[in-house]
Amino acid sequence: MTAALSLRSLGKRYGLASAVEDVTLDIEPGEMVVLLGPSGCGKTTTLRMIAGFVEASGGDILLDGHSIRRLPPHRREMGMVFQSYALFPHLSVARNVAFGLEMRGVPRAEREAQVAGMLRLVKLDALAARLPRELSGGQQQRVAIARALAIRPRLLLLDEPLSNLDAALRQDVAREMRLLQRARGLTAIMVTHDQTEAMAMADRLVVMRAGRVEQIGTQEDLYERPATPFVAGFIGHSNLLPGTLHEGHVLQVPGSSITLAQSYGLVGNATLAVRPERIVLAPPGTHPDERALGRVELSTYLGAVVEHVVRLGPETQVVVTGASSGAGAAHRFPAGMAVALCWTADSERLFNAA
Ligand code: ATP
Repeated sequence: MTAALSLRSLGKRYGLASAVEDVTLDIEPGEMVVLLGPSGCGKTTTLRMIAGFVEASGGDILLDGHSIRRLPPHRREMGMVFQSYALFPHLSVARNVAFGLEMRGVPRAEREAQVAGMLRLVKLDALAARLPRELSGGQQQRVAIARALAIRPRLLLLDEPLSNLDAALRQDVAREMRLLQRARGLTAIMVTHDQTEAMAMADRLVVMRAGRVEQIGTQEDLYERPATPFVAGFIGHSNLLPGTLHEGHVLQVPGSSITLAQSYGLVGNATLAVRPERIVLAPPGTHPDERALGRVELSTYLGAVVEHVVRLGPETQVVVTGASSGAGAAHRFPAGMAVALCWTADSERLFNAA
């Protein structure tokens, strides 16, 4: 199957500085891919090269197997939604949605039918005559989405589309957008720096760092099998513990040592990553999977979970979370108590220092 969109060694330089370097990615028809990474990692630049607003310095962009690198933005047939909704303030909701169709010379009757359909889809049919300023932020964003979809884009580009919405609305709109994208089989790329939002929206995620792709995968790939400490730390919370590895399975950290659940072929400096919810606390000497000893510094009830902060050494703290109630509820230990940190082999990941 031909990918809906292929990026081939895509790059962008500004003078001597490289904003995006060697990005290669295939997006399947109907897939939603999210570009995720910290500020300045090159997400927006990548999206703008796909849209045609920024000219690539190297590489290629293929839409359904054909290069679009030389096409101007308006001939790329992409629908775009930005964080500022960029609606026309003097046009009604319906006229905003109709705009792209008018530009393309779609006859009036057909246009009106399509606009009505789009407005029903985003549940704004009752507000068709209003002006943008008479709408809430979430409603404006839905108009922007309807406008982008009205032209039946070959690709939908979303640049932080939810960042102007408050937290409660953000989840609702995210869910609606996801359902809409699925229902219409739209191929889409979204840019965000918010990992929760990325996890909620994506079929696959691309984690970027300093202009390069760090890892591509599903939510589970990235969470369960992060390729680098950067990904482990960026997707969910990881306890990243740098130390020196001895005999393949003893990680020396300042003031303490951790007996790993398996042996590794690494030598010298290494970084261990263990998710907080994969660690069990027990009184020392009572659990078969005991890995390290520490002392509870903080024990906090957070509603669904309890969180313990355990100190292993002067520079080493480990966060442990467990269910606060129910069948698998975590035992709570008071601050000051000596505890064993316990986990099994499938819960630890060891990274080479390099
Ligand atoms: P954010 O989440 O903050 O929007 P981003 O991941 O989208 O960040 P980009 O906007 O793609 O990052 O920027 C990538 C790098 O390219 C940054 O270092 C930025 O300073 C640089 N950059 C972007 N546009 C230009 C430009 N027009 N001229 C020079 N440098 C630029």
